Amino acid sequence: MAKGFPYRNRIPLEGKVIGFWEVIDYAGCDGKKSWYRCRCGKCGTIKQIRADKLRDGRTKQCADCRAAELNAISLRKKF
Ligand SMILES: [Zn+2]
Repeated sequence: MAKGFPYRNRIPLEGKVIGFWEVIDYAGCDGKKSWYRCRCGKCGTIKQIRADKLRDGRTKQCADCRAAELNAISLRKKF
């Protein structure tokens, strides 16, 4: 992506499901990045997530669920 991509031309993500995130609504822009309010489909927690992270698939669930998943993977590797 080019430097200085105009985030004011945001791509709407409302209502989309990305990984376990359900995008609830647009939370606003911090000047550079757009943020969305998302609900984690695993535990129901609501977080504000950066739009670029959602679109890239860099986040698919909340930090707690991610930690639980990583823990489960590391346990599996032992066997
Ligand atoms: Zn969660």
